[in-house]
Parts: sequence; C-alpha cells; structure tokens
Amino acid sequence: MAGRVVLVESDEQLRTSIVKALRARGVGVDAFALPSDVLRALDRGVQWSRGLFALDLEGMDGATLASKSLAYLPELEVIFLTGSADAEVLCRAHALGTVIWKPVGLGLLCERLTTPARRSGVVRKVREAVGPGFELMVDANQAFNLGEALRRAPRYAELGIAWFEEPLPSEDIAGHARLAAAATLPIAVGESLYSPGQFAAYVQQGACHIVQADVARIGGITPWLKTAHLAEAHNLMVAPHFLMELQVSLCAAVPAAQWVEYIPQLDAVTTSRLLIADGQAVAPDVPGLGIAWHWPEIERRRVAFHTVS
Ligand SMILES: [Mg+2]
Repeated sequence: MAGRVVLVESDEQLRTSIVKALRARGVGVDAFALPSDVLRALDRGVQWSRGLFALDLEGMDGATLASKSLAYLPELEVIFLTGSADAEVLCRAHALGTVIWKPVGLGLLCERLTTPARRSGVVRKVREAVGPGFELMVDANQAFNLGEALRRAPRYAELGIAWFEEPLPSEDIAGHARLAAAATLPIAVGESLYSPGQFAAYVQQGACHIVQADVARIGGITPWLKTAHLAEAHNLMVAPHFLMELQVSLCAAVPAAQWVEYIPQLDAVTTSRLLIADGQAVAPDVPGLGIAWHWPEIERRRVAFHTVS
C-alpha cells in the first residue's frame, strides 16, 4: 500500500502497540491521541491514504473526525476501531468506512491496514485450509453496501459458506430483502436488532433466512422466545448471537435452533463453563440461567457503583 497511515487512538498502550506493529511492517504511520492535533496536521497539508480512527475520542467522536478529514482528503480510506459507541455514531461510521470491533488482534489489524480494501481470496484460503468438512460462516458486521454484498454472495455460496451474516447496515431492511432474494446462501441477521418487532419487519419482507436473536439485547427470555417462534412459524433457522451460557438452554427448547455461537467472553467473571461434548453444546440440567457469576472477580473489576431507585 502506498502512502502513510494516520492512527487516532486515545489509549496510549494500544496506540503504541499499533504504531510499533505497523512500523515493523515498513508502514509509515502518524499517530495522535487528540482529534484537534489531527486537524492541525491536515491544515498543514499532510497527506494520508488510510486512517484508523477510534470512535471514542476526546473532544469529538471518530466519525466526526473522519468527516472533517475527508473534507481535506477525499480519497482517505477510513477504518474505525470501536468497542462501544452509541448507535448514532456507529451509523455515521458505517456510512464513512469500515468498523472493526475491539478486541482485535494486532496482526489482523495491520493486515487490514496494509492490504487493498477489496481483498480477494481470503475466504477461499480458509476453506482450502480447513477442508470441506467444516461449516464456515462469513460475518460482515454490517460493513458492505448492497452492490458489494451482491458481488460477494455468489462467491461465498460457491465456497459452501453456511451463512452471510450482517452483510448490510441493520436499518437497511429493503437492501437485505433484495440480497436475500438474489443470494443462493442464507442471509443471517439479528445481533443489531433489539425487539421482536424489528425481527418481524425482516421476516415479513423476506429479508433474512437465519434469525440471530440475542437474549440480552432483545430484552430477555420472553421476547427471545417470541422471536424464535416467529422464525419457526416462517420456517427460518434460529442461531442466537452471544451469551451462549443462557442461549444453549433456549436453543434446546426451539426446534428451529441449530447453532450456538461459542464466545467464551464471560469466562473471566463466571465460575461455570458451557459444556461441549462431541462438538455439541449441552444445556445444563439444573435450574437457573446457566451463568454462575464470580462476584469477587466482578468486584475487582468494578470502576463505579450507582444505585438506581
Ligand atoms: Mg456477528
């Protein structure tokens, strides 16, 4: 890749690590903690070809900074790095560039920053590496527009990809419907939907084949079950997002559920573990949510305490 990278990240440790990794790959990088310093550099006429902007910055969010930067450098390709941001900021970020969620490996991040935006052959190489006996899924995290998703879908189908997840921004139901009608592999959505009604809109418009309701995001067990039954009534698959410890039991209650997403992010703050036997997630046979919190560990990580009355 020609040109320099601009990195804007307030976390000094992460910023330093990314700079070190990029320079080790021979990539020129200018790193900043504050948006105001980036704008001053742009005023001086600095040139960058690609930007990595955290969304949670001091003084202005990363999406706003990207908009201002693009006014100077219209060809700048922007990648946003985020772990938490409000929906409005995320929507603007998705409209301006690619969003990568923390935590992310430095190797993957550097590869993304140093290769052409439209890489080809990555999924094919993974398929070749694991062979035909593995189910592979592709998760775009809402990164594509309709044209790009339509271009990719037949290639993924050809590789036997089990589903194409969040191909488009979640508010684009019409785009999902057009993609779902054209694609010959299943389209999966759900982790960015927050009510049974939002799922109903997708189902009514034929905008997805796989329903990925997240019990924590959709409001609990009752709305999750309503959504799962909605999917089942329309002969759609249920494959929930995250919180496997609880959703394994819910999946056991829903014939349309076939997959439990394995994301052991709670391991550090729980004393129980999801049981997997012969590749199958096993629902616990005791009452409760299936999550045993490790309260001393949670207390150790506490940064604030609020009482809501
Ligand atoms: Mg996903």
